[in-house]
Amino acid sequence: MRRGLISLGKVQCDSCQRTIPYAERYLVIEEEDGVEVESGKKSYYCVDCCLKKGYAEYRHEKGETVLTFFPSEGKLQEPDDEKTSEQAGDNE
Ligand SMILES: [Zn+2]
Repeated sequence: MRRGLISLGKVQCDSCQRTIPYAERYLVIEEEDGVEVESGKKSYYCVDCCLKKGYAEYRHEKGETVLTFFPSEGKLQEPDDEKTSEQAGDNE
């Protein structure tokens, strides 16, 4: 699993080895052998490395550029074929 956090200035990126500056966003991800898993070794990545690895992306929303650590969100939504029509429960 992955979590986006804000650096307190003491976090080092596991990929490029640079210290992530205070207030900069970074990602904690649990992975084994480079594959994301539910529970495993925690890795810390700066934004640049997340972008390179595909763990983050910039989205353009309402004229603003927003960084997201969950690029797959929204793509995983299954087509909603079943129409959940409201059941009329009016019994007179
Ligand atoms: Zn990095």
